[in-house]
Amino acid sequence: MKRIDHAEASSKFIEATDHAEFHDRRLWDLRKKRDRESESLPEWQELRGLASAIKEHTLTHLADYLEQFEAAAQANGIVVHWARDAAEHNQIVHELLAAHGVKTLVKAKSMLTEECDLRPFLENRGILVVETDLGERIQQLDDEPPSHIVVPAVHKLRTDVAEVFGRTIGTDPTNSDVHYLAESQRQNTRPHFVGAEAGMIGANFAVAETGTVVVCTNEGNADLSMHLPKLTIASIGIEKLIPRIEHLGVFIRMLSRNALGSPITQITSHFRAPRPGTEMHYVLVDNGRSERLGMEDFWYSLKCIRCGACMNTCPVYRRSGGLSYGATYSGPIGVIIDPTFNLRKYSNLPFASTLNGSCTNVCPVKINIHEQIYKWRQVIAERHQLPMVKREAMRMAGKVLASPKMYRLAVEAAAAGISHLPRTLIYNPFNAWGKQREVPGAAKQTFRQWYVANRGTKQ
Ligand code: SF4
Repeated sequence: MKRIDHAEASSKFIEATDHAEFHDRRLWDLRKKRDRESESLPEWQELRGLASAIKEHTLTHLADYLEQFEAAAQANGIVVHWARDAAEHNQIVHELLAAHGVKTLVKAKSMLTEECDLRPFLENRGILVVETDLGERIQQLDDEPPSHIVVPAVHKLRTDVAEVFGRTIGTDPTNSDVHYLAESQRQNTRPHFVGAEAGMIGANFAVAETGTVVVCTNEGNADLSMHLPKLTIASIGIEKLIPRIEHLGVFIRMLSRNALGSPITQITSHFRAPRPGTEMHYVLVDNGRSERLGMEDFWYSLKCIRCGACMNTCPVYRRSGGLSYGATYSGPIGVIIDPTFNLRKYSNLPFASTLNGSCTNVCPVKINIHEQIYKWRQVIAERHQLPMVKREAMRMAGKVLASPKMYRLAVEAAAAGISHLPRTLIYNPFNAWGKQREVPGAAKQTFRQWYVANRGTKQ
């Protein structure tokens, strides 16, 4: 299978300078708001510790909590299904919809259904799927996947959205007023809510003790998706479990603060039983999660609550855009999850990181993200999945770094090259570094030359 070329896709993203600058600024703004909100809670670090401990405890007792969750949900009148992988998940959902003669499904945002490619699967079988989250709907209408797990259309300018709506739902393509755009989407989606025979949600949290699914939104679209149709379905990744309802407070206090820099989402909905005269189904999905749970170095990634903060803070994500990762999950969390789905296809992604550790610092459940990225690089090299050019470059670098004499010569040659070579030779198509920035000027004296001159003569 062909490797995703993140560097190539990123270079296209940064060619559109106004988009790239806007993207970087907007996400950094979210990061700053997140800092303000987290600093306003003196107990923030304590919450992080608790959140991490709750998740680790749940994951290490997952089978028990899953059984408890299933039993509680069944006692509440919910039908529970288990899906080993994406294909089984899609099949179960389709069979439910087909059995009820469903032609239209309204759906709240769910990264799990993106992971399973549910929408094309159902559309190929004649079922109209309407995304009801504003950002997700923009992406659906533009025939693009979400580029961010919390803000799916974050890479688009308002004028892009006006163009997409003008092209697809007949609004004025020159009007990019946010209220006009949001209202247009509202008017476009409402009839689908009223007419849809089935509704679907994902899950932010699933409470084992009560069998409840909790969804956090700012638009209320999950509630409309679940409150109007006669058939409702929740797709739940098995890692979403938490033991008790009292644990929810820890995560709810952190999720929106860390994601968007707001104290809480507008709406936190608890779904726990079908309305009278309706049917409710849960589909519990594994799709590689059990296998990941068994990976000594990588199981911590299952603690993720999908807040997106690691993406907002990552200098590579901010400057390359989510779509350049070519995967459902992008940014630092994507870089450590995606190789578990397909090592070869995503083997370039762990190299799309500066390893600066900022992702780890902002993670509310204390996932050691940058250490896992570094570990993936080792795994990829050990399993011979490095592209030939990189492999050879590393081999040469290894030789140079192993020899002090060669290293000194190389540093001096590079410094002389930067200082004296003509610009056209430095800024050539092979110099990816120089595409978007100036190569820093070389110091007149290397540290070693200074040391020998000032502190001693030992070579
Ligand atoms: S890895 Fe941590 S910071 Fe990143 S999305 Fe998941 S919970 Fe948020």
